[in-house]
Amino acid sequence: MTIIINMRSGVDEVKLRIAAKLIREGKLVAFPTETVYGLGADALNERAVRRIFEAKGRPADNPLILHIAKFSQVYELAREVPEEAKVLVERFWPGPLTIVLPRKDVVPDVTTGGLDTVAIRMPANEIALKLIELSGKPIAAPSANISGKPSPTSAEHVADDFYGKIECIIDGGETRIGVESTVIDLTEHPPVLLRPGGLPLEEIEKVIGKVRIHPAVFGKKVDTPKSPGMKYKHYAPNAEVIVVEGPREKVKGKITELVKELKERGKKVGVIGSESYNADEFFFLGSSVEEVAKNLFKALRYMDKAGVDVVIAEGVEERGLGLAVMNRLRKASGYKIVKA
Ligand code: AMP
Ligand code: MG
Repeated sequence: MTIIINMRSGVDEVKLRIAAKLIREGKLVAFPTETVYGLGADALNERAVRRIFEAKGRPADNPLILHIAKFSQVYELAREVPEEAKVLVERFWPGPLTIVLPRKDVVPDVTTGGLDTVAIRMPANEIALKLIELSGKPIAAPSANISGKPSPTSAEHVADDFYGKIECIIDGGETRIGVESTVIDLTEHPPVLLRPGGLPLEEIEKVIGKVRIHPAVFGKKVDTPKSPGMKYKHYAPNAEVIVVEGPREKVKGKITELVKELKERGKKVGVIGSESYNADEFFFLGSSVEEVAKNLFKALRYMDKAGVDVVIAEGVEERGLGLAVMNRLRKASGYKIVKA
């Protein structure tokens, strides 16, 4: 049975105590963060963590991010905390930044996918912070979607994937940012960006200087990725996705052409972007890159419900949140990219 707790009008400590108790008992609780919804369990409880992998159908070597509510918890989970980590989190926590550090033995192998490192973040969401605090545990929480599907940005999305399969869903309304956290590996020098996300790389570089971008961020095939999650299919709706990239005017021409061609072949076509291009279905992503990020996963899920055969996505510039948006779109398409 799944309890759904409505917390749309703000933190309710009495109700959160119920959810925190479930976490302590090794149960699964989905909760909102500022990025996307997380599927949470006690990160130090092997059996509970194993259930996250089972529920999501997540490959066992794809490690989880541990969510904390106080900076001092970093020292309970990590062997070393370099100066760069302190400076970064001082500036950006709570917020959409995940840091990878050498792990302590208290963190079970299942949680880190067998890696000797641990990924940690403090979310900027009052419900999430209070839940973590009341549970008294670090909470392991990957995005609350079936593995490979678009991430959830509302409690409805979580219910679509997990109703009846997890103990609790806390409904805190739509998430503010809409793409997952930025993941940075601080065990390397210079640090390595493993996943672009809600905190733009430019902001990080202002604080700690040059960061290396892992080639997998742009879809390059790598044999032994530092972040195993990078090699798996991700964010994909059931429909085929095509991303059209290039200068704005050329992109518009190319999408117009593609929509016409696909419709002539009898396909039901959806467009996500800034205009409809005469497609069968259209989802307006927004007029700023922040809005595009916020609406991206919702748009992909919408297209599946509308039953389209093909989704054509308008590419955005790879600046600020645009780097995360393009990373998600390319992955969602399985790298089916059309250069205009
Ligand atoms: P998700 O929580 O579903 O958004 O995925 C978590 C992301 O963090 C995945 O891309 C993981 O590969 C990455 N991650 C988690 N722990 C580690 C770690 N110890 N080292 C590198 N990447 C990690
Ligand atoms: Mg995920």
